[in-house]
Amino acid sequence: MDEEIPVDVGLIYEGERIRKSNMYVDLAGPKSKGAELLLVVPKDEVEDGKVEVIGPDVDEMEEGGRYPLGIFVKVAGDKLEEDLEGVFERKLHYFCNYIQGFMHLNSRDIIWCRISKDSAKKGLKLYHVGKALIKLYKTEFDVIEKIQITFYTDDKAVDEHIARAREVYEKRDARASALKDEDVDVFYSCLLCQSFAPTHVCAITPSRSGGCGAVTWFEGRAAVKVDPNGPITEIPKGEVIDPIKGEFSGINEFVKEKSNGAIERVYLHSIFDYPHTSCGCFEAIAFYIPEVDGIGIVHRDFQGVTPFGIPFSTMAGQVGGGVQSQGFLGISIAYLRSPKFLQADGGWNRIVWMPSQLKERVREAIPEEMYEKIATELEASDLESLKDWLKQKQHPVLERLDEEAEEEAAEEETREQEAQPVATLPELTLPAQGMPIAGAPTEFTITFKNAKIYAEKVIIRRKG
Ligand code: SF4
Ligand code: ZN
Repeated sequence: MDEEIPVDVGLIYEGERIRKSNMYVDLAGPKSKGAELLLVVPKDEVEDGKVEVIGPDVDEMEEGGRYPLGIFVKVAGDKLEEDLEGVFERKLHYFCNYIQGFMHLNSRDIIWCRISKDSAKKGLKLYHVGKALIKLYKTEFDVIEKIQITFYTDDKAVDEHIARAREVYEKRDARASALKDEDVDVFYSCLLCQSFAPTHVCAITPSRSGGCGAVTWFEGRAAVKVDPNGPITEIPKGEVIDPIKGEFSGINEFVKEKSNGAIERVYLHSIFDYPHTSCGCFEAIAFYIPEVDGIGIVHRDFQGVTPFGIPFSTMAGQVGGGVQSQGFLGISIAYLRSPKFLQADGGWNRIVWMPSQLKERVREAIPEEMYEKIATELEASDLESLKDWLKQKQHPVLERLDEEAEEEAAEEETREQEAQPVATLPELTLPAQGMPIAGAPTEFTITFKNAKIYAEKVIIRRKG
């Protein structure tokens, strides 16, 4: 144990979950608010080793309480560049979880932290969490020369921090979306989440950031430079197998190797057939709604239920773990802004439902003509009301549904026509004249018993 920190810190605590019964306080999370942000700044703006807590620290919090939380890390170093921010910021998740009795979930402005009763009793405060994080960052990354951490628990200060963090996230995501998959020869992969989803390999391309939203292509490139043996590595692009679905031989080969053969093919831009695997820390889920042949999106912050009647958490439980789930895909919010967003499935024309808060958040990414046609929880809380809304708004999926219905009806008719026997007879005996069969006597009879006779054409002629 470190003299400065009253609990243990180490990799063995990574998988530790703090259940509600053992919770001292909840910080940020779906019923409160928070954000984490790491910035690379000039050296003179960092007081190395400093930890500050603006608002009450754990010892001033009520047991069983819930508080907002902002985490703000500033780092400086000669070799650091802005592109590393997302990758270092993502490390907060892993490093926080090394601290005994401190749990960190998710990323960016959807973080959720918890402190256990046992650790609070030992005296663990946010101040110590900060000290532990500083040590972990400095040990793992030589390039970080100076680091300072501020925690916010004061309501107003957290609000300001969230606003600042969101501005930075937007800037990072916008930068990434200016570049496309076809503009580069190399992609990146992140294996950080294999610690809990062993077959999950994030393929990070200009048009698709990692599921957690924290690692864009630019950040992947920067990470490889400073930490070549780290969890983020290059993936050679290889051949373009399908530019619309986003299938590349380089990604397929890499994913197959790193998933130990469990995953053989990946489509970057589709939720069907070979969708990208989902780990568990994705910011949102895209899900297929067969009843309307459309796709819904739900994000982690949404407290209500999807038109399926289940909330995000239930769906996330079914989707995650590093498997390919047909019709379900864990995605980052940034991917909603990608010009290639689910392009193989129809892109925004296929989106039928999303929470109002998310719709507003990515408003500028949604084509204008589609914005009014996409239902939210306010217009459609179940499949029936969703169908009504889509009809009322003349949503493009209706055409698909009509086309499909027509095709099905036509097929059905053909099948029926094909399948209709022209005669069902208990017994029929025919003289087989005119059927030349080699070696057979010239005149014989064929008897059908209980036969159904299918024919393309039946000609009935009056005799004589
Ligand atoms: Fe890395 Fe993907 Fe996990 Fe994000 S979701 S930490 S990019 S593996
Ligand atoms: Zn993950």
